[in-house]
Amino acid sequence: MNQPPTMSHDPIDHEALEAIRDGVRSLCQQYDGEYWRQIDEVQGFPEKFVTELTEAGWLGAMIPEAFGGSGLGLLEASVILEEVNRCGGNAGFVHGQMYNMATLLKHGSEAQKSAILPKLASGELRLQSMGVTEPTTGTDTTKIKTTAVKRGDKYVINGQKVWISRIQHSDLMILLARTTPLAEVKRKSEGMSIFLVDLHQAIGNGMTVQPIANMVGHETNELFFDNLELPADSLIGEEGKGFRYILDGLNAERTLIAAECIGDGRWFIDKASRYANERIVFDRPIGQNQGVQFPIAEAHIEVEAADLMRWRACQEFDAGLPAGASANMAKYLAAKASWEAANVCLQTHGGFGFATEYDVERKFRETRLYQVAPISTNLILSYVAEHLLDLPRSF
Ligand SMILES: Cc1cc2nc3c(=O)[nH]c(=O)nc-3n(C[C@H](O)[C@H](O)[C@H](O)COP(=O)(O)OP(=O)(O)OC[C@H]3O[C@@H](n4cnc5c(N)ncnc54)[C@H](O)[C@@H]3O)c2cc1C
Repeated sequence: MNQPPTMSHDPIDHEALEAIRDGVRSLCQQYDGEYWRQIDEVQGFPEKFVTELTEAGWLGAMIPEAFGGSGLGLLEASVILEEVNRCGGNAGFVHGQMYNMATLLKHGSEAQKSAILPKLASGELRLQSMGVTEPTTGTDTTKIKTTAVKRGDKYVINGQKVWISRIQHSDLMILLARTTPLAEVKRKSEGMSIFLVDLHQAIGNGMTVQPIANMVGHETNELFFDNLELPADSLIGEEGKGFRYILDGLNAERTLIAAECIGDGRWFIDKASRYANERIVFDRPIGQNQGVQFPIAEAHIEVEAADLMRWRACQEFDAGLPAGASANMAKYLAAKASWEAANVCLQTHGGFGFATEYDVERKFRETRLYQVAPISTNLILSYVAEHLLDLPRSF
């Protein structure tokens, strides 16, 4: 078996995390279901909420103090995003900056970091977007067709991306493109590079944005690149190593999304339990029937179990250890648990679960996304089978 090295896990200081939870919760409580419903109805963007979250310093949690942030780890960041979802909000509008920032912090040059990170911390700039997925290659990322060709002091970008979120409310994007053709590299994961794109300069000068109306919003778009010129110093790290760099960011992304799913799961379970206590049918609370209470109890057990794997992923990431296995497993377990909790919550509410004013159908749609994005369940199973269990490679 090809298990990664494990660390001895220090106990988590839940008391310190409680202070973070309290702070985020008191901010989130000002943004009630009505606020999020209105955003959802028009596929809008929660600008006021994001601005306040940034100004309160929560989005700069992982930025080192030297660059104006709080210097916290993925563990604390995960609690912040969990709490947003637990309060009924949607951290999908803000999580991009946390994991994109981790990529820039780890692989960016000193010049890039000192130019960008303080502005991310203060809210002057947003780095909410990451362009990886392409319409013709999907999950098979190493086959991406978007190219970056070096010409003098510029890279020229051509190609297309799909499902790229938060472009309309971001100033910067991390873009993955091929700098060496697939046929010329030894390993298919080589020859790709990542770039920091100034969206204001790019849009209308070689980059076009086409919004995609969809089930969950997220301000998601198709992007077209037609000879977009980027200054050579937009390259992050070394040319050709972008896929490896992006994988580090993806582990942070998967762990943070696991935490959001745990927040969702807890929201669904609270909501279902409350309703099951209050709703009287056949002269008794529906929750008195074991047919109603057992599925809620089962969903609770699964969310709590997923939470344990989320802590492990956070601790490994923060210790600089390989976190791929735990991050993938945490995302798998948490996305499954939140989706099951969503189903139970909807079922417990009967017909009222379908009424928008209860927020159950909105959160039901929102949490469903995480079985597919940022990585689908099948691809996690395939990772575990191949990389942890040494089963034959299937693609
Ligand atoms: C709302 C939303 C926001 C998003 N935001 C971003 C973003 O900001 N940036 C970005 O880069 N991407 C983003 N994505 C894209 C997302 O990461 C992809 O949709 C996801 O990775 C799946 O890729 P795909 O849609 O191309 O599916 P495909 O690769 O076409 O796969 C379709 C289905 O087939 C299954 N499948 C494919 N190959 C195999 C196999 N070999 N074995 C078993 N099953 C297989 C998959 O599991 C999946 O269920 C977003 C997507 C959505 C819906």
